[in-house]
Amino acid sequence: MAELIEDAEQISLQELGESLLEATGGDPAALHALTPPDLLEHPRVRTLWEGRPERAGWELLATRLAFEAALELGLRARVGRTLELTGTVAAAVEPRDPEVLAELVGEAHRHLAGQEILDTGLAGYTAYLRGLLERLRLRGAILHPWLEPYLAEDGNQWRIWGGRREGMPAFPLGQSRPRFPHDRHRGHRDAFDSLAATGATPTWLVDWAVRTIGVEPGMAPSLNRRMFELLDAEEVVRARPTRRGGSAYGLDPRVIAVHDVPEDGMAPSLLCCDVCRSPHAAPPEQFAAWVGTPCLRYRCPGRYQPALPEPSNYYRRLYRSRTRRRVVTAEHTGLLNRREREQLEAAFKAGTDPAAPNVVVCTPTLELGIDIGDLSAVLLTSVPRGPAAYVQRVGRAGRLTGNAFIGAFLPAGPRALYYLAQPEHMLAGEVRPPSCYLDAVEILRRQYLAYLIDLAADGAVPAPPMPPKIGLVSGAGRAPGTWLGEVVAASVVPDAPHVGEFLALFGTHLRDETAAALREFATVGLAAAVDRALAGWKARYDDLGRRRDRLKASIERLEQRPDPDDPDQRELRRLRGERYAVIVLLRELREESTLQALEGLGLLPNYTLIDDAATLEAVLWSHTEDGGFSGLRLVYQRPAAIALTEFAPGNSFYAHQRRLVIDGLEIGTASEPLYQWWRLCPECAFGAPEVSHRTWTACPRCRHAGIADSGARHQLLELRRVFSSDSDERTRVFDETDERERRHYQVLTTVDVDPGAVERAWQHRRVTFGMEYARVATIRSVNFGPAGRHGEQVWVAGAQLEPPRFRTCRLCGAVTGAREPGRTDHRGWCLTRSGRNEDWDHPVPYHQVETEAVRLLMPVATFEVDERLASFKAALLLGLRLDFGGEPQHLAVVVTDYPGSGGPGRRRFLVLHDTVPGGTGYLGRIADPERLRVLLDRARETIARCPCRSEGRAACHRCLLGGIDPSEIELVSRPLALELLDQLLGEWAFDPVPTIADADIGLVEESELERR
Ligand SMILES: [Zn+2]
Ligand SMILES: [Zn+2]
Ligand SMILES: [Zn+2]
Ligand SMILES: [Zn+2]
Repeated sequence: MAELIEDAEQISLQELGESLLEATGGDPAALHALTPPDLLEHPRVRTLWEGRPERAGWELLATRLAFEAALELGLRARVGRTLELTGTVAAAVEPRDPEVLAELVGEAHRHLAGQEILDTGLAGYTAYLRGLLERLRLRGAILHPWLEPYLAEDGNQWRIWGGRREGMPAFPLGQSRPRFPHDRHRGHRDAFDSLAATGATPTWLVDWAVRTIGVEPGMAPSLNRRMFELLDAEEVVRARPTRRGGSAYGLDPRVIAVHDVPEDGMAPSLLCCDVCRSPHAAPPEQFAAWVGTPCLRYRCPGRYQPALPEPSNYYRRLYRSRTRRRVVTAEHTGLLNRREREQLEAAFKAGTDPAAPNVVVCTPTLELGIDIGDLSAVLLTSVPRGPAAYVQRVGRAGRLTGNAFIGAFLPAGPRALYYLAQPEHMLAGEVRPPSCYLDAVEILRRQYLAYLIDLAADGAVPAPPMPPKIGLVSGAGRAPGTWLGEVVAASVVPDAPHVGEFLALFGTHLRDETAAALREFATVGLAAAVDRALAGWKARYDDLGRRRDRLKASIERLEQRPDPDDPDQRELRRLRGERYAVIVLLRELREESTLQALEGLGLLPNYTLIDDAATLEAVLWSHTEDGGFSGLRLVYQRPAAIALTEFAPGNSFYAHQRRLVIDGLEIGTASEPLYQWWRLCPECAFGAPEVSHRTWTACPRCRHAGIADSGARHQLLELRRVFSSDSDERTRVFDETDERERRHYQVLTTVDVDPGAVERAWQHRRVTFGMEYARVATIRSVNFGPAGRHGEQVWVAGAQLEPPRFRTCRLCGAVTGAREPGRTDHRGWCLTRSGRNEDWDHPVPYHQVETEAVRLLMPVATFEVDERLASFKAALLLGLRLDFGGEPQHLAVVVTDYPGSGGPGRRRFLVLHDTVPGGTGYLGRIADPERLRVLLDRARETIARCPCRSEGRAACHRCLLGGIDPSEIELVSRPLALELLDQLLGEWAFDPVPTIADADIGLVEESELERR
């Protein structure tokens, strides 16, 4: 746009709009660069650069560009780095004969007053006229064919939003929209500025007349109305009758002149109010006339003065540079499917197609050795985990020339601020390689089945060929003679050699327990695991079939008896969209490739090592131009532990340029609900599903009687699948400048250790300290509902809660209040839609993993508890890092407590647990006093010698802060960690005990009393 204006020196807005597209000369790259982002996928517009240009696409784009030009030089001319505010061009409304118009205004003024009035002279009327016309322009009162229906219908917002013309940008609620003067006070307040308003506070138009020509406030409305009649007669504005009476006025784009502003400083265009500092731009020829005129801001007493030119005007140079390279962004995340990802990588790397992305926004998926060629810049939006991840991410830049721009945006927070002050600790920090673990049984099981399938493919296991689609596999089942039946049978038969051959591949690297566990799986567990997975698949398929049938019934009902309150049949469209999506889903489910489906069912290995994933299924419906409907289904997966909050009802998930609000939970069917009633002990981490024949009197773990109370009953739902259903358009219309909305929830994580699963335990002889290794511990996280809302008070595992829980429709899983407080969006197939009464459950989603854990009894009771636990935890993690020789990413630490027997204090534990189900075997190896001593000794040495001791810091990332949660940084202190370590390591002597769960903590309570 800047180029065209520069070449023409002066051009009307009308011509500018018309020539923008012509100026490309049909060059595909230029056409693509000019197209607004929301039209890039438009089927007719994209023909313009795809080598088969269609006339309709050209016309649509031309109309849109004229509209954009009017926005840039009208409604949005004063927002941000616009062409005008950067001093690149300047626009003004230029009537053919402004002096004659000013004379006419003066005459009208005298006529209205009916007497001699103080003559303000032509200058006053000229200023009045010029300001009024500029005001119209900057309010967006510029006529365009797309705005005609909006004006005719009294500013009906539907016409510039949901019901706008094809190709027009949307003006959602909250965004400023074009405002036109109107000679009566009718229609929508946000669309019109009334010329007839007679309230106590003067309107802008009245105030302006008073300020420039000193007219009596009471007379100003009449003068303004007369003014618009004059402007209409002179063809500067055009009157548009509106449906409820009266007329709106809009500027004719032919009278808006756009001027080039040739040289920096030589021909100034920028002014600034001497009171409110608001900027204004005027064409150089009119610049002098603007100096000293009243400020256009409502009731501002200031006047315009020349603005100081910006010494280096980057944007002005950019706009005039004549290099046009559109920024085409794309997301590269694990949410894309493989085909989408590969297409993106290839297009980015080649960079030849005008539509090819040249900016890729990515999650750490790109960290992992994907070849995308050379990069000229890398911008990080957070601080990577450590130097290794940092090098991985930035190392892709500047390979060709050795030059690259690397930047990092730091979120405010203690960890980021630390690296802001000490960037060399990240840039030149120690690079620790990632590690792997062979003893993870759960992973080995899947590898083993993959091994068997390979043998079958090679003919080493006699089996028919693998059916290509999971629907066929499920249909055949595990009967003899079927592919899956023969594969499993080959392992289950006595003396089958395969498991032995498989284990031999690992040499001596596997522990005996691991090998034994796998042997048992091969002969007993495999068949059961396969049956479970296939049954799960079948249940889901059948359930979807029932939903499809119910939707069909609802649709037929509505077709026969249309809802009189819904003339647009929006409900019917929604149901059809949902039905379409369910049918697509059924087909996809049936036709998924066998190997991919078995991976999804947890039978074959996946690359993330994630055992359980939760799925978000979004169904989006939209209506097509011809009054039809279409449905779109999007599916995303997240690790179940993360999904517990990310996929919680009410939260928003952002992907594929959409915002998806989670509004429903998969709750199973009425006869087979997925949730279960549980008892959670109010005092300890014990929890178990209720069984009908069992009566509860005391907690089997801590003997507390509270578990028998009704407050200990909770409806637990394993979070597997959640829903979002919405109109396609609504998911796309969200303010992109907004922070992504993340809701917070009341999540409680507990660790339950059955004393029977404790393999070894030791207690310190002098200090209250002990450790034990549990082959199986239950790590359970429960999401009790949104933070900030409250329900009835209960106790769970020693914590006091007021869980609001999630109010969920028993028939369809829709959650009340997910989108709007108090509202429930029942799914299309919900039986409440055919008259069934509403029925509610109040489940709490949970995630649970059974894995190895090391539990440490800590020498703290009530004194500086959080600081001491966090400092020791940091020291332990440092020791692990040193011991492991890498980041132990498969480990996590949680703090838990347990009721004391007798005394009021609770025992505090640090629990170090695996995150891989079944464990990786690593914790079993370090759970030994001698091994732990070495580990803590190394940590102590590093802490004691760390240079931060003389830098006036409590700790740094070279020592204690390396691996802990950012929220705990403020709690961690080097002196506290040293004190604890010295106390423990001073005399490192242990006695074996059965468990540390009921160890005496009297010692620590005494010593704390002394310290105080
Ligand atoms: Zn001002
Ligand atoms: Zn208990
Ligand atoms: Zn429902
Ligand atoms: Zn340090």
